[in-house]
Amino acid sequence: MPELPEVEVIRRELEPLLTGKEFAGPVLHMPSTIGHPRPEEFSAALPGRRVKTIGRRGKYLLIYLDRGILTIHLRMTGNLFYAEDGKAREERFLRLSLPFTDDSALHYSDMRRFGRLWLTETEEELQELVLKKIGPDILNDLCREDFLDLLAKKERSRLKALLLDQGFAAGMGNIYTDECLFRSGIDPNRRVADLKEGEAEKIYQAIFDVLKEGIEYGGTTFRDYRNSSGALGDFQSRLAVYGRKDELCRCGTPIKKTKVAGRGTYFCPCCQK
Ligand SMILES: [Zn+2]
Repeated sequence: MPELPEVEVIRRELEPLLTGKEFAGPVLHMPSTIGHPRPEEFSAALPGRRVKTIGRRGKYLLIYLDRGILTIHLRMTGNLFYAEDGKAREERFLRLSLPFTDDSALHYSDMRRFGRLWLTETEEELQELVLKKIGPDILNDLCREDFLDLLAKKERSRLKALLLDQGFAAGMGNIYTDECLFRSGIDPNRRVADLKEGEAEKIYQAIFDVLKEGIEYGGTTFRDYRNSSGALGDFQSRLAVYGRKDELCRCGTPIKKTKVAGRGTYFCPCCQK
């Protein structure tokens, strides 16, 4: 599932390609991909609108238009693909095609069909309909002090569950959370209240470092993730614990897999206390 770094990689690729382009008539192969407004209204409203900039909040991609905002969440297996010649790369899981007036197009495919697109007219509407339960972006909207303040209000939460909670802070998923807790040397089962002096700061730094590195390496590729030009990310080669059950940690201890907050969780019982 794409997490913050994968969505940020896509944002950085798409922004220069799409800025200034004008949408033509969309083709909805699977209308239920549209979360708002109703599919027929979406198809009528999008043509003629131009891309101004592309932003991101957590795992949400925000395409700011000259009127309104087109928001995309890829969920489990969503893929965006930009085609200069307008042609879709593969038809099998194609859910919608968004052509531009210059005959290029942005295609959306999704094997599992959980991804959604929303067209909202204002920031207020976006907030109300899409981002109501989504916290600040963990990379861009939280300085160290803000993060520590937010953390202090969640004393009873387990760290793994809290970092995955998009209402607490948006962007982390299972992969980057496990990597971040490994780097900060913290057992994923621990609660905020049990953190010792300096450990919260360590977590903040690890989040920042892991996410930045993930972006730098083009994201992590597991199964379906591709960036918008079809290339694979490379961060999986840097993973210290995630997906490495029974392999040796750099300390020589076999990596364990357990369940925390209902999610498969990888950790090193020696390095993480
Ligand atoms: Zn270890």
